[in-house]
Amino acid sequence: MSSRTDFERTRSAALECQKCSLCESRLNVVFGEGDLSSPILFVGEAPGAQEDLQSRPFVGRSGKLLERLIFEALGLNRGDVYITNVVKCRPPENRLPKPDEVRSCSGYLKDQLNFISPFLVISLGSLATKVFMGRDVQITKCHGEIVQSELALVMPIFHPAYALRRGRVAQDAIRNDLIGAKGYLQEIGVWNFE
Ligand code: URA
Repeated sequence: MSSRTDFERTRSAALECQKCSLCESRLNVVFGEGDLSSPILFVGEAPGAQEDLQSRPFVGRSGKLLERLIFEALGLNRGDVYITNVVKCRPPENRLPKPDEVRSCSGYLKDQLNFISPFLVISLGSLATKVFMGRDVQITKCHGEIVQSELALVMPIFHPAYALRRGRVAQDAIRNDLIGAKGYLQEIGVWNFE
């Protein structure tokens, strides 16, 4: 996919999607938002209650933390980067998305990846990291490392919801990893924010 028209077509299809049973309980589809020319794409797991209500990714408590850490580490506002999730509809009771739900949604994520064509995907937490790496990973071991997978250049970081539960040490780890991502993008000359 290459054109903006194709991207908008994908968004429209996602907004009406009935490929899996999450369409029965969702209030809204949360497609993603931000700057489509950003060199960084943040990918979380799935929308929570606030996201489902507002049709926007990461607007609840973990979103506020992510937003603050993006600002502190990268000096950017959330609208300067693109933010989405592996699964675009809220799983009931905030359970983990099931493999068939991840599969049903994978075309939308691939289209986003193709169109935005980021230099770096920052995967938030184990599920998004597994989707991009194609295998299970221990996020406690690999967070902050930059790995070339078949899909993209990926840096896994802790999920902000985990960092909310774990407190300062995990939040510092996210901040440091993001500072590392910025340094890397500056080094290879694709940091186009200033
Ligand atoms: N957690 C996620 O993984 N994504 C959101 O959009 C909100 C919370």
